[in-house]
Parts: sequence; structure tokens; C-alpha cells
Amino acid sequence: MTNKTTPDRYALVGHPVEHSRSPLIHTVFARQTGQRLTYELIDAEPPAFETAVRGFGAAGGKGMNVTVPHKEAAFALCRQSSEAATAAGAVNTISITDGALTGHNTDGIGFIRDLTVNLRQSLAGARVVVLGAGGAARAVIDALARDGACDIAVVNRSADRAAAAAALGGDAGRVGSVDDVLAATLLVNATSVGMGTDELPLDAALLHDRLVVADLVYHPLETALLRAARTRGATAVDGLGMLVHQAARSFRLWTGVDPPTDVMRAAAMAELSTRGVA
Ligand code: NAP
Repeated sequence: MTNKTTPDRYALVGHPVEHSRSPLIHTVFARQTGQRLTYELIDAEPPAFETAVRGFGAAGGKGMNVTVPHKEAAFALCRQSSEAATAAGAVNTISITDGALTGHNTDGIGFIRDLTVNLRQSLAGARVVVLGAGGAARAVIDALARDGACDIAVVNRSADRAAAAAALGGDAGRVGSVDDVLAATLLVNATSVGMGTDELPLDAALLHDRLVVADLVYHPLETALLRAARTRGATAVDGLGMLVHQAARSFRLWTGVDPPTDVMRAAAMAELSTRGVA
């Protein structure tokens, strides 16, 4: 147990934030590791973002998670950023020391750890199609390339963003098309298509039984894409594992302590079920 009298303050800033699972996850991590902290939700629209972050730091806040739509603005705001945040051009975790902001991005490592540790999927030599080119896609592409994926085809609605994201994959990265799914071993949906809707980000006929399909969307947990993947014999991976692992990395950056992630997924699932969104 830590013996501080005042708990350290952390928060998630985004818009909207009311359905976030981050307070639950960090509260459970704190309980499991004996850390004393509070975790708040701060709803800020883009014009209010900088004031919200600086105000939280001035009030003694130690760190923040950043979510849609502020990850790129957070990168611009931080005085220093980690290699992963710089590659993605996006920050999802801020550490605050004496008012100075340091940006990190734990999305990519969270995705990789869910696949490789929990689900025992090897990424060495993987042929990957990434749908999307936003902050999450860029973090995942950078992490996939570092982990040895041999081909990363990026498919995105806006072609210019696809090219910029593909460049993060180094020699493995390229702009692709949905037809690349036919020869792929891993398909990652890093678009927001399917969030709160039953929409599919691509034609289900392209899915096959040699494919692992990972959907970053976690609301709902069982997306239309994951249902279609299972129907066609593919392995389906939901976004909750990544959410837990990226939070674990944020927690470690803030507290220096590695929280256990194995029981966390069950706790988050139970919470989601009670809210009727699992
Ligand atoms: P973002 O930066 O806003 O990027 C959104 C991406 O989705 C862009 O590539 C965008 O294409 C594409 N897109 C949006 N609407 C589309 C549509 N109707 N048709 C086709 N493409 C569309 O968002 P983000 O931060 O990368 O997040 C993306 C998703 O990942 C969200 O659902 C988020 O909740 C999820 N996420 C999950 C985790 C986790 O831990 N599981 C972590 C981070 C993010 P354009 O470039 O053409 O606009």
C-alpha cells in the first residue's frame, strides 16, 4: 500500500466521455496494486481542450488519458512526446510533472499485447490489412511494423491519409485495397465504422477462415464485423482486450507499477453486461 494522504488525480478528457470504461479500469487497477488515486471524466469540446488539460494540471492532476477527438491536439500540446506518440502523431496518455506535459501513445502496444500475450497470435510474418488511417490506425501500423508484420496494406476512405499512414509501416507498409483481405492473415478495423451501429466496414464476402479479424471498436463489443467473421470461420478479436492493455500501459507510465490485466477483462465484461452494452 502507498502511504500518501491525498490520492493522485487522473482523468480522461474527450467528447463525449460519459460511456467510458476508463474510470472502472483504472479504479480496479489501483485497487489491485494498492495505489491511491482518483480518475475523473472531463467532457471538453475541441475549443475547450487546451484549457481543460492545463486547468487539470494546475489543479494538481498527475496524468490524463485523451480520447476522440483530441488525440492529435494533445500531441500538438505536449512539450515532449514518446517515440510511439511521435510516430502516430497522436497522444492518448499525458504525464504531468510541475505543469509540464509529456505525451505517450499506448494504443499500439496495447493492441500488440492483446494479440500476442492474451490471444497468443504471432505477428512475425503476418500479412495484415488495416482499415482506417486515423490516430488508432497509425499507432497500430507503427506497432505492427516494429513487431515484424511483413505486409501492411492500409485501406482508408481518404486516400491521402492512407498514404501517410502506410508510410509508418516502413518497408512493410503500402496503400492497399479491400481485395488484399483475400490473402491476409490479419484484418484490423481501425475505422469508427460499427461504433454504435450495425454497419460493416467492408463486404463480408471477403472474410475467410485463415483470417484473424480484430475490431478496435468496443461499443458494441460484438460488432457486425466480428459476427460476420465468426460466421465465415475467422477468429474474432474484440476491442476490449486492447482497451485493457493500453490502460495498463498508461497506469504503468503514471505509477511505475504494472497492473494485472488477466482479471481486468472479466471485470470490464461484467460491468459492460450490467450496462447492457457487452
Ligand atoms: P479517428 O482518428 O477519428 O479516425 C477515424 C477513422 O475512421 C479514419 O480512418 C476515418 O476515415 C474512418 N472513418 C470514419 N467514418 C467512416 C465511414 N463512414 N466510412 C469509412 N471510414 C470512416 O479515430 P481513432 O482515434 O483512430 O479511432 C478509430 C476507432 O478505434 C474508434 O472506433 C475508437 O473507439 C477505436 N479505438 C479503440 C481502442 C481500443 O482500445 N479498443 C483504442 C483507440 C481507438 P477518414 O480518414 O477518411 O476520415
